[in-house]
Amino acid sequence: MPEKPVTLRDIWQARKRITSISEKTPLIYSPGLSEIAGTSVHLKLENLNVGGSFKIRGAANKILHLTEEERKCGVTTFSTGNFGMSVAYIARKLDIHATICISNRVPKAKVETLKRSGAHIEIYGDAQDDAEKRSYQLEQEKGLTVIHPFDDPDVIAGQGTIGLELLDELPEIDTVIGGLSGGGLHSGLGIALKSTDPEIQVIGLSTAKGAAMYESIKQGKPVSIQENNTLADSLLGGIGINNRYTFNMVQQYVDQIVLLTEEEFAQGIGFMLSKHRMVIEGAAASGIGAILNHQIPLGSHVVVIISGNSVDMPVILDVAERYTCNKGEGLL
Ligand SMILES: *Cc1c(COP(=O)(O)O)cnc(C)c1O
Repeated sequence: MPEKPVTLRDIWQARKRITSISEKTPLIYSPGLSEIAGTSVHLKLENLNVGGSFKIRGAANKILHLTEEERKCGVTTFSTGNFGMSVAYIARKLDIHATICISNRVPKAKVETLKRSGAHIEIYGDAQDDAEKRSYQLEQEKGLTVIHPFDDPDVIAGQGTIGLELLDELPEIDTVIGGLSGGGLHSGLGIALKSTDPEIQVIGLSTAKGAAMYESIKQGKPVSIQENNTLADSLLGGIGINNRYTFNMVQQYVDQIVLLTEEEFAQGIGFMLSKHRMVIEGAAASGIGAILNHQIPLGSHVVVIISGNSVDMPVILDVAERYTCNKGEGLL
């Protein structure tokens, strides 16, 4: 047996390492969801973390773990979403040169936002896979360090620090649910929580519009899939045909993966707006959508990971309007 790529101790060390960059986020009780679910439901507010998502934890742990020499050479990543923004933020803060590789397909508005983040942007090829390839070329040619958005032990350990905070504040926790894409979040949560009590249920939610991890687990090996537009855009993206860590960890630690509809993501966003007065993105609203529609078995002390807040204003306005028209505000 090879040594475990990520241990509980790694997660404790990550927790200490990232305090200068990442926040300890609030855990709040949701009276409305608890009533609907008939059990106690808490929300872990990673939408309030630095940069608006939990991705700051993994990115910080990885970058703070680099040697002086590696920092001098700079870093590169190929995520255009929350992870890319987190890498850019940390690089700027620590005065490290960051190159974000993106494809021609990335919308202009997103490119502008990334440019404002202070990172160097390199446009390459027509697909996300091309951007990824370019990152690894830069590693070979220029010695940059690739910061992988999920398939990296340091990133996984960083995401796992959420699990430690949950155990600290709600030691009774028996169910955790949240948006699952590449699996960095659930791998970290799985190690932290199941090392403490293997009975804690770890549940992943993905989008029916493209769920690479769900399909891969079903087929017993990493596969790539067709993707379509979804409100939960942060849940799209492959897991990598040569996935090294998260596929095995999700197989081992995640008890169930459930696919959600667009309507369920929208309901989750609407509930958070109307009941908790907070703006969150579709991926982050997945746990709420699943509970509202009674999609998953729940224990007595449930935590929903509210994973991020990166959502365009027109989406929020549209959801708010539909929500108010259909249900009457505050009805749900
Ligand atoms: C990245 C992300 C996820 C999924 O995390 P993985 O580690 O890729 O599984 C969920 N929600 C939000 C908001 C994200 O940015």
